[in-house]
Amino acid sequence: MKTKTQVCIIGAGPSGLILAHILQQVGIDSIILEKNSRNKILNRVRAGIIDQNTIDVLKTIGFSHVFKKQGVIHEGFNLIFDNQCHRIDVNELTGGRSVALHPQQEIVKDFLFHRESLALPILFNVSNVTIKNYETSPQISFNIEEEDYNISADFVIGCDGYHGVSRATIPKRERPEFFKDYPFSWLGILTESPRVSEELTYASHNAGFALISSRSPKIQRMYLQCPKNSTLEEWDDERVWSELELRTASDSNISLIRGEIIKKDIVSMRSFVCEKMQAGRLYLVGDAAHIVPPSAAKGLNLAVSDVCLLSTAIQDYYQNNCSNLLNQYEGEALKRFWRGEEFSNFATRLFHKPVNGDSFDIRQQTSALRYMINSRAASKSFAENYSGIPQDFYSNS
Ligand SMILES: Cc1cc2nc3c(=O)[nH]c(=O)nc-3n(C[C@H](O)[C@H](O)[C@H](O)COP(=O)(O)OP(=O)(O)OC[C@H]3O[C@@H](n4cnc5c(N)ncnc54)[C@H](O)[C@@H]3O)c2cc1C
Repeated sequence: MKTKTQVCIIGAGPSGLILAHILQQVGIDSIILEKNSRNKILNRVRAGIIDQNTIDVLKTIGFSHVFKKQGVIHEGFNLIFDNQCHRIDVNELTGGRSVALHPQQEIVKDFLFHRESLALPILFNVSNVTIKNYETSPQISFNIEEEDYNISADFVIGCDGYHGVSRATIPKRERPEFFKDYPFSWLGILTESPRVSEELTYASHNAGFALISSRSPKIQRMYLQCPKNSTLEEWDDERVWSELELRTASDSNISLIRGEIIKKDIVSMRSFVCEKMQAGRLYLVGDAAHIVPPSAAKGLNLAVSDVCLLSTAIQDYYQNNCSNLLNQYEGEALKRFWRGEEFSNFATRLFHKPVNGDSFDIRQQTSALRYMINSRAASKSFAENYSGIPQDFYSNS
């Protein structure tokens, strides 16, 4: 096993795999350390929608074929409110920008298979990852099946998600952190049933939010707003289907077809940001530094935005011996993150039933939904954020 590399990446989620891929394309070597098994990361169900910025990145780095498949590009979405279905035409409102239905596990699979086809190092089932000397010359130690290993690297990149070790390596007193908890969760299901709509359908109903999404023509992913402390035992299949049917009923021809539920999970809704994304030669990327509630489908896109900034900066360091972009990484990443965070928070409040909301809160939400549907300015702003704020927005801000 190699004991030295230019970049040691902790975590083989989308951030780690895409970062390693871009670095490899510009001749920078890396080793990825992943705590879970190969099989587990290939089967982790999470994001479904990626925005135009991420579509553009994946096209640029060699994965344009994905977007030629039928049904992948979505030019809009449906919003059911007051039992009426409204289509938000994102493409028209933004002058040509869209989103894509490209499940996270497909992204992980594509990048993992590609890395393996090039026989580049990725170590699974690592435990006890410890990062030392990250200020000057990082040393990473870990175990695999109780054997001890050490790697020295020029840089160590924490792509290890919200619960990873990288952020926790930086002393707490040096990390300004911001946290927002939401008073509800999502119950997510995967079901073997036919696709009922070409595009995603969001529903804001008195009984709570619901989302009809898809993973393939035969497998659908759906979510229901549920109480914060809900347990899976409280949600038998009959209750799940009847709530989904109630909340998504409308004047449209979108009509759920019940099927076997093959997976159920509870997703907590929270926002978190650690504003310390760099400490010496340790950098944090994606969910390791920040998370958003999934309501606006932004988390993976913000992770890819970090990957782009950091890979460009690392390339500049090796090719031009210049650290300016590395020093700017944190500030640039946070600008993009806070835009995504504000929009995710906005979409969460717009779509979800206010918990313990009084009649004032509920009337405000109703007014906001009506405004979003009936005002071109409001729907245009939503569409611009949903499809991903173009990168040139940040060049002068
Ligand atoms: C229900 C749900 C729906 C979502 N939908 C969307 C969506 O539609 N669009 C969107 O853009 N985003 C969405 N997201 C957010 C998206 O899934 C995340 O933002 C994305 O997974 C972040 O990728 P990451 O690689 O930064 O982190 P992760 O995916 O969390 O990957 C981290 C990796 O690091 C590994 N790891 C952790 N600790 C260690 C350690 N100590 N040592 C080594 N490895 C470690 C983990 O096993 C994992 O493989 C959704 C999230 C949820 C929960």
